[in-house]
Amino acid sequence: MRTVFVSGKYVEETEAQVSVFDRGFLFADAVYEVTSVLDGKLVDFGGHARRLARSLKALDMKCDMEPAALLEMHRELVARNNVEEGLVYLQVTRGAADRDFAFPAPETSSTIVAFTQEKPLVNAEQAKTGIKIATLDDLRWGLCDIKTVQLLYPSLAKMEARKKGADDAWLLRDGMVTEGTSNNAYIVTQDGVIVTRDLSHAILHGITRKAVLHCAHVLDLKVEERPFSVAEAFEASEAFITAAAAFVTPVVEIDGRTVGRGSPGPVTQKLREIYIAESQKAAI
Ligand code: PLP
Repeated sequence: MRTVFVSGKYVEETEAQVSVFDRGFLFADAVYEVTSVLDGKLVDFGGHARRLARSLKALDMKCDMEPAALLEMHRELVARNNVEEGLVYLQVTRGAADRDFAFPAPETSSTIVAFTQEKPLVNAEQAKTGIKIATLDDLRWGLCDIKTVQLLYPSLAKMEARKKGADDAWLLRDGMVTEGTSNNAYIVTQDGVIVTRDLSHAILHGITRKAVLHCAHVLDLKVEERPFSVAEAFEASEAFITAAAAFVTPVVEIDGRTVGRGSPGPVTQKLREIYIAESQKAAI
C-alpha cells in the first residue's frame, strides 16, 4: 500500500480524497510535473520546480507550497514508499469551488496531490529494443509549453499508434514533427547532426531535453533546434525520444519504415549513458 500526499497530509492511497468540485477534475484546470527517482534520489528537481512555476504563472494559478516545501515532500514520499527507481507525480489544481468557467476567488486553496510510482528506468526494456513510432496529426491546443493535465488527445494518439502496431505517436503540425505524446522527439542526420524542434508554444520544454542537449554539447555533437519533417526522419541515421520517465529511448521504426539499421544507434546510446551517469551524480 502506497502513501500518497494530498494537500498537506500523508495518507494511505485508499484513504486519499479530492473534492468532486475540484477544478482539476471538472476543467483539467491543473498543472503537473513528473520527476524521476534514481538510487532513491530526485533527478533535476530544480528544473521541474522552475517549470512548475512557469506553468502556474502562465495560467495565473497559485501553489500553496513553496519549492523548498515541495522538495521536502517529494523526498518524504520517496522515503516512506522506499522508492529506489521510478518517479514522483505532482499535480497542483486551482482548487475546489462551485462549477463556473470563471476562476474562483483568489484565496481558494490549491489542491496539491503527489504519489510515487516504481518503474525500471536504467534497465528499461525499451532502451534495449527501441520503440516504434506512428505519426499522427497534432490536434492539441496551442499552449503545449504549459504542462497541464488535459492529456486526452495525447492519450487518444497513443492508442491510435498502438492500433497501428507502434508504441507511441509523433505528432505533426503542417507536416513537421512537434513532439511525442509524452516526450520530445529527435533525429540524428546521416552527417551526425542531432535535430529537435525548437522551443515555442508547440512543444513542452522538456527538462530531459535541456539536460540531453547539454550532454550533446559536452560531447561536441552538433545540434540544430528546428522543425523536421517525416520525410527527413525517414532518411535519418538514428532517432530517439527524451522524457523524465524514459530518459533517452531509441526509436527504431517510424510509420513502418526502419530507422538506420533498425536497432538503437551509437549517438543515442552514448547520450543515454552520459545522461544517466550525470543524473546519478547530480540527483538529490
Ligand atoms: N513533451 C510532452 C508532451 C510531455 O508530456 C513530456 C513529459 O511528460 C515531455 C515532452 C518531456 O518532458 P520532460 O523531459 O520534462 O519529462
